[in-house]
Amino acid sequence: MSDRRNVAPNDLEAFWMPFTANRQFKKAPRLFVGAKDMRYTTNDGREVLDGTAGLWCVNAGHCRPKITEAIREQAGELDYAPAFQLGHPKAFELANRLVDLAPKGMGHVFYTNSGSESVDTALKMALAYHRVRGEGGRFRLIGRERAYHGINFGGTSVGGIVTNRKMFGTLLTGVDHIPHTHLPDQNAFTRGEPEHGLHLANELERVVALHDPSTVAAVIVEPVAGSTGVLIPPKGYLKRLREICDKHGILLIFDEVITGFGRLGTPFAADYFGVTPDIMTTAKGLTNGVIPMGAVLVKDEIHDAFMNGPEHMIEFMHGYTYSGNPIASAAALATLETYQDEGLLTRAAELSDYWAEGLHSLKDCPHVIDIRNLGLIGAIELESLPGEPTKRAFNAFLKAYESGLLIRTTGDIIALSPPLIISKAEIDELFDKLRTVLMNNI
Ligand code: PMP
Repeated sequence: MSDRRNVAPNDLEAFWMPFTANRQFKKAPRLFVGAKDMRYTTNDGREVLDGTAGLWCVNAGHCRPKITEAIREQAGELDYAPAFQLGHPKAFELANRLVDLAPKGMGHVFYTNSGSESVDTALKMALAYHRVRGEGGRFRLIGRERAYHGINFGGTSVGGIVTNRKMFGTLLTGVDHIPHTHLPDQNAFTRGEPEHGLHLANELERVVALHDPSTVAAVIVEPVAGSTGVLIPPKGYLKRLREICDKHGILLIFDEVITGFGRLGTPFAADYFGVTPDIMTTAKGLTNGVIPMGAVLVKDEIHDAFMNGPEHMIEFMHGYTYSGNPIASAAALATLETYQDEGLLTRAAELSDYWAEGLHSLKDCPHVIDIRNLGLIGAIELESLPGEPTKRAFNAFLKAYESGLLIRTTGDIIALSPPLIISKAEIDELFDKLRTVLMNNI
């Protein structure tokens, strides 16, 4: 009997794929049919080393038995429970586990189904928080240029990627942006946190003053901007943002959808940088990417401000049909257990020097104009072909895929973020493969 998994569907038209050049893809589809630990299997039977943990999410590696089994068990026991006015034990258990892991003082969890939903939840929570305290005049939200905060309306509005915004008109009003922190002239080829650029945090002071501080509700930043090419904050930058927010009574939101759950060698980037936000968005690694789920972690003061309203009233008019879904909760609990059992939340710290060494050894490959790293994240920026700002990196992506390596590209930047179970031998393999690609006339 033939193995049906290896048969590509002969009509690819119906599925309108997200963030994909559909017309191109459907002429030469790339399909995965299996995965185990560090590797995918393609429909033509090849193995592909996962250099990106899927989409920055499969932190414990693929098809881990404990997680798979937890999902299977939960699906047979309690498949769904209404999310409003009713509950089930695992959602509460998970919230407690997350609070144990979170920075001190972040004692509450609001569930969503994705990073985008976590972001929009955090933004709405910030607006509502000021209202419940009688400061409804704080309606402005501040994001950053080159930020990615998902694709819902709030996240797109505070996001700073021109191509993601320009199809959609005005988006939210009352939003402003501060500059990104990428200073290639001064910081190119820095290992770890860049020296230059702390002054860019003061742009927040300028923008806040421009609008009158008493109108600003929240500032949202990715501690490390991932999707726009791994932009690492200059030394002291996030601390300075925290000071400015504190001075003006503005909430600081960290979007930890990528940086959460061990990517930098600490549970959260907040721990790595020693800066505690007021609200923290998570998703991806929360369930090892296996089941859609997000969680917004919230400081006690914020939660308590909502709880101090009239008894028997719903405190926050917000939530999703699948908030704290039983199967997602079971997957997340098994994922957190796997991270703890295998030391994965600190593994990136142990591997990061080795990782940086391999990554920066690509410095002399043709067209490489910058390399950046932190924890188990890396980026290689390529000089663009004239008038074609994405082509060279995408060529590299295609060649890497053919040679058995999954990388991710954004513009002409190659981004890397392997599962945290990666071995030193696999790090060597990854960079050997990538070197061959970069040397191969891209
Ligand atoms: N925020 C950040 C920082 C992200 O990197 C992402 C996804 N890459 C999102 C939000 C959106 O997450 P999702 O795709 O799960 O909606």
